[in-house]
Order: sequence, then C-alpha cells, then structure tokens
Amino acid sequence: MDHAPSELLRMLQLELPEQEGRVLGSQAIWMCIGCQTCISRCPKEVDLPRALDFLRRESLEQGRVHPDARDIVAFHRAFLSSIARHGRLFELGTVVGYKLRTGHLLQDAALAPAMLAKGKLGLVPHGGDAQAAAAIFERARAVAEEAGE
Ligand code: SF4
Repeated sequence: MDHAPSELLRMLQLELPEQEGRVLGSQAIWMCIGCQTCISRCPKEVDLPRALDFLRRESLEQGRVHPDARDIVAFHRAFLSSIARHGRLFELGTVVGYKLRTGHLLQDAALAPAMLAKGKLGLVPHGGDAQAAAAIFERARAVAEEAGE
C-alpha cells in the first residue's frame, strides 16, 4: 500500500480536493480484498472495506485509477463478467478475460497443468443460475442509480 488506511481516512477528513485526488489516485484503495478483519477488530467500528469500495468506484468513474492497479481492475472486471454471464465463476473464462484485458498472455501459464490436474481450472462453465445472477446485477444497478451513484 502506498498509504496506510489511517492515512487515507485522515486525508479524506481534510475535505480538500487535492487530498481527495491523492486518495482516489492511490494504489492503496485497490489492495483491500474485503476480508473484514479490520472492521471486526476496530473499536470504533469503522467500515473500511465499505469505504474503500466506494473510493474504488469513484476512482473508476473519475478515471483516476493508479497505473499499478490496472491489472486488479482487469481481474475485477473479468471476474464479475464471468459471474454475470454464467451465474457462477467460470475459471477458464475468467483467466482468458483477464489475459485479453491485460495482455499478460503467458503470465502463470506454467501453473495451468497442475491446476487442471487438481480440478481447480474448469474448462467448461459449472452450470450456475445465470438468470438469478442477471437479476442481482440489475438490482444492484437500480440501487446504485437510486442512490445517485
Ligand atoms: S477488509 Fe480491512 S483488513 Fe481486510 S484487506 Fe481490506 S482493509 Fe485490509
């Protein structure tokens, strides 16, 4: 992380455009994996993962994504696209989507045989409920629009 979470929150508390830009353009907001450890331990119950989620959306909307975070964004999009299309994660489709978005065509290719052998890389979609997933995505879009996001 280029800034600790506490620094990000302090920068936001200043309510200065320059500091807001630093936060939205930071690498740190893309490093959170949403594990919820911080909020479960925070004595003030600061919902940092939710705040970071909001900041990532703002960063995307304002075109301020940190250059080092572009691969993360590409993975995020490939992952969600797979869920939206198949109703469940389709591993090979996600990998292909990520590689086409990033151009990292051979990255980690040596791991594929072992993953295939262990059944960790499905070659065909797993038969999720695509209609239910589409309804969830549609509802999320509607909620975001209602909230003016
Ligand atoms: S949820 Fe909190 S502890 Fe987990 S990665 Fe995100 S900021 Fe870190």
